[in-house]
Amino acid sequence: MPELPEVETVARDLARLVGGATIHTGRIIRAANLSTPDTETFARAIAGRRIEGVRRRAKWVLVDLDGGLILMVHLRMTGQLIVLPQSATPDRYVRAELQLNDRRVIRFRDVRAFGRLALVARRADGSPSRSLDPRDDAALSGHGPEPLEATFTVSRFTSDLKRRRGRLKSLLLDQRFIAGLGNIYVDEALWRARLHPLATAASLRAAEAERLHSAIVALLTEAVAARGSSIDDYTGPDGDGAMQERLAVYQRGGQPCLRCGGVIRRVLLGGRGTHFCPRCQPLPRGRRAAGSKRDLMPTATTRRGPRWSEALTEGSAGATAAERAAARRRAVRLGGAR
Ligand SMILES: [Zn+2]
Repeated sequence: MPELPEVETVARDLARLVGGATIHTGRIIRAANLSTPDTETFARAIAGRRIEGVRRRAKWVLVDLDGGLILMVHLRMTGQLIVLPQSATPDRYVRAELQLNDRRVIRFRDVRAFGRLALVARRADGSPSRSLDPRDDAALSGHGPEPLEATFTVSRFTSDLKRRRGRLKSLLLDQRFIAGLGNIYVDEALWRARLHPLATAASLRAAEAERLHSAIVALLTEAVAARGSSIDDYTGPDGDGAMQERLAVYQRGGQPCLRCGGVIRRVLLGGRGTHFCPRCQPLPRGRRAAGSKRDLMPTATTRRGPRWSEALTEGSAGATAAERAAARRRAVRLGGAR
C-alpha cells in the first residue's frame, strides 16, 4: 500500500506532468470509488477546470483546481494515477478518467478497487472541505502531524508518545497520531531506531524518542528522494521508485540483519506482517505489554521463518534466562550451525 513517500511522489509527478493543464471532461467509471458528490454532479463540476497544482496531505493526493475545488484521491491498496495519450486503450481496471484539453488523459486505475475519490471545495485556509461547500468542516482534520514538516518537532513527538498507552507499531500506524506512515516505513523506522515494535510508547526514554524521531524523518526524506518503494502495484505517474532496494527489514524475514547479522523475524501483529531484528531491537521485560509474547507467535499460514522463540540466539538481548538456555540447547542440537 502506498505510504507517504509513494503518495508524495505521485503528487510531485502529477504536478510536473499536468500542472497548468485544463480538464475537458471527467468521468467516474465505477461509482463506488467516488465518496462525494454523485457521479453526475462530479462530471458537471470538474469539466473545464484548470489544474493549479498537486500536493499531498497524509496519504491523500490533493489536486487543486481553479474555482476553489480540490479533487482528493486515496490510492489505498492498488490505486495508480497515470498520464497517457488519449489514444491509449484503457483496461478494465480504470475506475475514473479525466480527459485533458491537450489530448492526454489522467486515468485512475485500481485493480482491487478500494481507492477513494472525492471532489470537494477548498476552504479559506486551503484545506479540503467535506463537500462542495467551502464552509463545511475540514475533510482531513483528524490526521496527526506531517512528519516532514517543521511542526513535527522532537519535543512534540516525545510528549505525544508519553501520553499514549499503545505499542509503538500500532501507534505509528495510527494516522491520528502521525500522518503518512504505513507498514513498510514503520517497520523500517523502528529498526533504524533499534526499538521493538511491541515496546509500549510511554516507556520510551527521551533519547529513544529522539532516535525514533530522527529515524522517521531521515527514512522518509531518503524514501521521497528515491521515489518510494515499488512493491506490489505501486508505480509513480513518471515511473517506479527505488527505495525497495534499500529496505532493511521489510519483507526480509529469515534473512540476516544488515546491522548485526541476526535473523530478521516476521510475525503477525494486528493482522499485519511485522518485521524486526530480535537482536538489535530487544524488548526489555519491563516494556512487555500483556500478551506481547502471544502476539509474537506467527500463524501457520503466514509462517516464513522460524518461530520467535526459535529465532533467539544465545546472545539475544531481551531473552529470558530460560529462553537463552533453550537457544543454547538448540544450537548444540543443530551442531552449532549458528
Ligand atoms: Zn540486528
